[in-house]
Amino acid sequence: MSGTAPRHDVVVIGAGTSGLTVARELSRAGMRVLGLEAGARYSRRTYPRTEVDTSAQLFWGGGVELTTDAAIAILRPKVVGGGSVVNQALMDRFDDVAWDDFRAASGIPFFRSEDMAPWYERAEANIALQIVPEDRRNENARIFAEGFEANGYRCAPLRRAQADCRFEDGNSCIECLGGCRIDSKQSTALTALPVAEEHGFELRAQHEAVGIVERPDHVEVHVRDLGGTTSTVLADRAVLASGAIGNSRLLLASGFGERLPAIGTGFYSHPQFMNFGIFDDPVNAHDGPLQSYRSADPGFRRQGFKLENVFAGPASIAMLVPGFAAAHLDVMKQLTHLGCIEVCIRDQHPGRIRLGKKGAVLVEKRLDAEDRRRRRAGADAIRNVLNAMGAKRIVEGEMGIGLHLMGGCAIGTDPRRSVVGEDFTLHSSSRIHAADSSIFPNAPGINPALSIMALSLRASETILEAAR
Ligand SMILES: Cc1cc2nc3c(=O)[nH]c(=O)nc-3n(C[C@H](O)[C@H](O)[C@H](O)COP(=O)(O)OP(=O)(O)OC[C@H]3O[C@@H](n4cnc5c(N)ncnc54)[C@H](O)[C@@H]3O)c2cc1C
Repeated sequence: MSGTAPRHDVVVIGAGTSGLTVARELSRAGMRVLGLEAGARYSRRTYPRTEVDTSAQLFWGGGVELTTDAAIAILRPKVVGGGSVVNQALMDRFDDVAWDDFRAASGIPFFRSEDMAPWYERAEANIALQIVPEDRRNENARIFAEGFEANGYRCAPLRRAQADCRFEDGNSCIECLGGCRIDSKQSTALTALPVAEEHGFELRAQHEAVGIVERPDHVEVHVRDLGGTTSTVLADRAVLASGAIGNSRLLLASGFGERLPAIGTGFYSHPQFMNFGIFDDPVNAHDGPLQSYRSADPGFRRQGFKLENVFAGPASIAMLVPGFAAAHLDVMKQLTHLGCIEVCIRDQHPGRIRLGKKGAVLVEKRLDAEDRRRRRAGADAIRNVLNAMGAKRIVEGEMGIGLHLMGGCAIGTDPRRSVVGEDFTLHSSSRIHAADSSIFPNAPGINPALSIMALSLRASETILEAAR
């Protein structure tokens, strides 16, 4: 046990999409900011080289955490840069439907497209954004686009946070899911951390916050490093940026649950299911940019799902392909002949994050009848697309994947039903703030990362004003 550390203006807990955005803004404004991140720090030269090492080294739980009924595999990043290092870097603004539903659920007046537009503009100005050039789109993308056209569905190219993927050199995005080796992907480890450090930001990687206490004039954070040594950090303020599960867990473990009964409730994950078409000719879906298109069909949005052209590494595909022994092997042998489309549902039925024995995280998350209907509608549309393109067999993945982990500390005006107020400060607190994915009041049905950055920028201004 070591002693107490010197006092900082702000301690940011979690160095992911939100945490590093806030750290950059507050450091740039002259605050003394300390960051705590449970995961390790890598560079383009040191990111793991294989899919299995990526899972083991960049995610909590050694790769996959399961919901209590084991129906959804949760992928929770644990690395400096958080989700922005391992994600697919698709950058979408929320539409009016998402913001209107956020506003209705939370009572927060600025959840409107026009009010959020300036924050989106600032978020977009910090990253390079590109659409994969048409001549680089791979065969899996062609199946998606032409299959959509054949069915009269609308699709659109995806916008990715990338600077120069140099596809002409044979680079594949599948590798960048384990951290980009050519610093093209615009993770916050690349776009925010160096700027923050230039302005004095101190980051302690492999330091996990295990408790937080609010005192009248400061915040105390209890920290455990990789070797098990504990220490205490003192700061005027804390920003919780450890994601939906991380924030809920820290607050519950720190005894905030009695004051704020909504902690851990309202957990959403946009459950995603990968469905495959087996084709006679090779598809090589792993080759080149693995994602180029998304559905842009108003009918799909109304029905509560979206489709994306996607693929994954062989270990992940093996986990998702149903069946055992020879039946499973038969599909895996045809890996290079698989076309793949994913249905992502806008889940309506919230889950709950709890603490189990010895503080272990338990995530209860089930699909209700409406969520299952959305999944079915999406799977039917995929079937139509793959059949139109001549798939000889269709295999539907059974296990859901939870990549967009949202809620647990919802923003809202009612302290009985929410955790964080309009000023991004915990109800009943004046020193603890949050603006990451944990504050989502429901599932938007749209990729969340850009909106998390926009909210974090807005929150940074609010925190600076409060500090002044
Ligand atoms: C494989 C994958 C693909 C995705 N693709 C996309 C996409 O294309 N587009 C999109 O918009 N979104 C995508 N997402 C989701 C997106 O990345 C997340 O929504 C986003 O990163 C969440 O931001 P955050 O700041 O809330 O949390 P994170 O970015 O997850 O950061 C939280 C950080 O806090 C750390 N932490 C947790 N607990 C503690 C603690 N107690 N002490 C210290 N540190 C702690 C974690 O280790 C983590 O690094 C994807 C996610 C995954 C996993």
